[in-house]
Amino acid sequence: MRYDYVIVGGGHNGLVASIVLAMHGARVAVLEARGKVGGESSDGEYMGVRYPRVAYALGLFPRDLASFIGLDLDSAVYYSNPSWVAVEDGREWFRRWLSDDKVEREFDALGLLREYRELRKYIRGFNECSRAKGILYTIDPPSLEEAGELLEECMEGLGRMTVEDWERGLGRIIPGEAWGLFTFPTLYSEPGFASLYINMNEGLWGQPRGGMNSFTGQLYSRAIALGVDVYTGKRAARILVDGGRARGVATVEGKVFEASRGVLLSTSILCLPKLLEGENLERYLSRRERRLLEDYARIRIPLVRVNFVTQREPRPPTSRDYRPVPIVSINGGNLWGEASYPTMNDPALRGPKGLHAVTFSGAFIGSSIQEIGEALGIHEPEWVDVVDTGEGYCNPNGLPSQVPMTRHSLLNSRPLKGWGNYRTPIPGLYHGAASSHPGGEVTGIPGHNAAIRMLADSGVKPKSPLIKQSS
Ligand SMILES: Cc1cc2nc3c(=O)[nH]c(=O)nc-3n(C[C@H](O)[C@H](O)[C@H](O)COP(=O)(O)OP(=O)(O)OC[C@H]3O[C@@H](n4cnc5c(N)ncnc54)[C@H](O)[C@@H]3O)c2cc1C
Repeated sequence: MRYDYVIVGGGHNGLVASIVLAMHGARVAVLEARGKVGGESSDGEYMGVRYPRVAYALGLFPRDLASFIGLDLDSAVYYSNPSWVAVEDGREWFRRWLSDDKVEREFDALGLLREYRELRKYIRGFNECSRAKGILYTIDPPSLEEAGELLEECMEGLGRMTVEDWERGLGRIIPGEAWGLFTFPTLYSEPGFASLYINMNEGLWGQPRGGMNSFTGQLYSRAIALGVDVYTGKRAARILVDGGRARGVATVEGKVFEASRGVLLSTSILCLPKLLEGENLERYLSRRERRLLEDYARIRIPLVRVNFVTQREPRPPTSRDYRPVPIVSINGGNLWGEASYPTMNDPALRGPKGLHAVTFSGAFIGSSIQEIGEALGIHEPEWVDVVDTGEGYCNPNGLPSQVPMTRHSLLNSRPLKGWGNYRTPIPGLYHGAASSHPGGEVTGIPGHNAAIRMLADSGVKPKSPLIKQSS
């Protein structure tokens, strides 16, 4: 099996990378361990009912990238109006409407219009400047401090807000009670960059039309149409390193996929130690790098990702009978997280038995899974799917970003210091997944950038209009 490039991991980033490489005429293989592509962006199924198994909302995949790789976002995503609502202690208190005017009215009703406008100014500034300055689409990200300087050139205060922790910078604009409308508690004491990045959609989240598999299915079809060989059910066991360079991948069955130009690890970087023989791990990664990877894998955050299947139509904890049902952000009691109700919106997902599915993602301190179900309006579920993102996705923390987005693991230091250029210390071995720059969520940017890096290192002039050619 001889290819120019071999990609380990058929998640959305691996598929995006394969498309970009194939668009440049390369022979590409994607090896996916599971029976289907999509990774954390794919559906689960029980008795014919389909539901998003890990990621459930789409909103950060950029239009410019979609248009470059030929992905029709409008057919992949639908938006309910409001797109999501926030419920606290059983009371619905905020709605993220589709129109700007109505969002402003919502903040006005909370007495936070001025504060919202101020925060939005930075979010919009970041969207524009990070592209103009080549901070998002890049194969050589700057350091956090350099990114701050570049963004400050675009807009006064933006650089400082990017570098400062949320709680000392952007978080000072808006009162603490409303922080949850903009960012995750895990990012409160991290640089504003992380929160600005996950707000690129100005908080507007859609849901996958026809299930998450329809979205990743589009990426898959595009890759196949470009001649990519996508192998499902093929688990990589080892990265083959010979003569000081990554030469290919061996699967658990012992099949070898040779890569003449490069191997891309497109799964969490926490998969890397397992894929390198002990000898190569010690030879190429410093003691500090090995220790950091171990430390990342050891962090435990009480996050749960659970899906319920139920016979009866659930009653979302919203104050109105919205159709389609928005995503519901729930805070109160022992629960903090988000629920989505895919089958109430799309009857085709219900399967022959007409079952319903409800997804929940978040933290629960001391609550049982049954209590979570009850808070979401489900009594006596038919089936409960508690997802272990460590098993299979090398994401034991259950973080959307696979490895945390801290001051020490952003931009040119993501996932480790000096690795932000998508290279690893092993020549010919690259990384490009949510654990790479610019970070997690379904954005495809890490996959795109990693592919461009691999092309540039192979001496191919990348055609992507998104990347600054000088980089
Ligand atoms: C609980 C939770 C909820 C989330 N919700 C959202 C959301 O609503 N919206 C959003 O935008 N983002 C969400 N995210 C984040 C998003 O799901 C991820 O950032 C994104 O899907 C990661 O994509 P990826 O392609 O980088 O990696 P993955 O999707 O993890 O893909 C990696 C692939 O590699 C495969 N693989 C692993 N090891 C091997 C091997 N040895 N050989 C071959 N293949 C292998 C895996 O099977 C997998 O398919 C959520 C994440 C979590 C954890």
